[in-house]
Amino acid sequence: MRRKLVVANWKMHGTISQNKVLFDEFKKRLNSINNVDFVVCVPFPYLYQAQQELSGTNIAWGAQNVAKHAVGAYTGEVSAIMLCDFGSRYVMMGHSERSLAYCETEDNIAEKFVIAKESGLTPILCVGETFQEREAGVMEHVIASQIDAVLSYAGASVFADSVISYEPIWAIGTGFSATPDQAQSMHEFIRGKIAKLDQEASETLRIIYGGSVNPTNAAQLIGMRDIDGGLVGRCSLDAGNFEKICQAASVLVA
Ligand code: PEP
Repeated sequence: MRRKLVVANWKMHGTISQNKVLFDEFKKRLNSINNVDFVVCVPFPYLYQAQQELSGTNIAWGAQNVAKHAVGAYTGEVSAIMLCDFGSRYVMMGHSERSLAYCETEDNIAEKFVIAKESGLTPILCVGETFQEREAGVMEHVIASQIDAVLSYAGASVFADSVISYEPIWAIGTGFSATPDQAQSMHEFIRGKIAKLDQEASETLRIIYGGSVNPTNAAQLIGMRDIDGGLVGRCSLDAGNFEKICQAASVLVA
């Protein structure tokens, strides 16, 4: 049985003092929920603060991006080893807010996935289609291509115990989430794709949904058979909203 996973993506928000308030609230509010995994993905400079604040709690932390190289002359990049130095257990890659703005290719993202995995981090691979791609009915083709990039580097077994976050681009930050049926259908497609190559990996792969998850829609989305949790942007900046989403996930497995 896969444990539900709720990931807070703080994007480029926060200051040391604002983070302190949120960390304190998260610890207080999530402390008694022990049947769901929680992660906060913070901007790089706050990894040390996350480590100081969250060590010994039931909340893990991680980053929103990672270099595709292990070490070297890559000015401005942050390596997987550096993330591990600060106790990170998770790292995101391929988020559309990065891949579109910084022209990241599917191959780049796949390399990040593989180096994260090799470094002992749990990769959170973000995949998703644009509104136009959904309108054209090619969304499965688009998602398949994003996953194929990783498959061609590392095979299907690399997805065991990893995380894929299905995030339709049209749903991120818009207030318009996918319907539970739309999301379930894509999650089932993704799991089926991995299962054809490696059944065992497909069973431990957690596929979470991201895109305007809020306290009102969380239970319905996370309650779908192939939806193993949520990746939450805006609502993770409000401890009360985030707690409600986490409670919804917890009740589903209680
Ligand atoms: C995200 O950060 O990937 C995200 C889904 O954001 P939001 O919850 O604000 O749509």
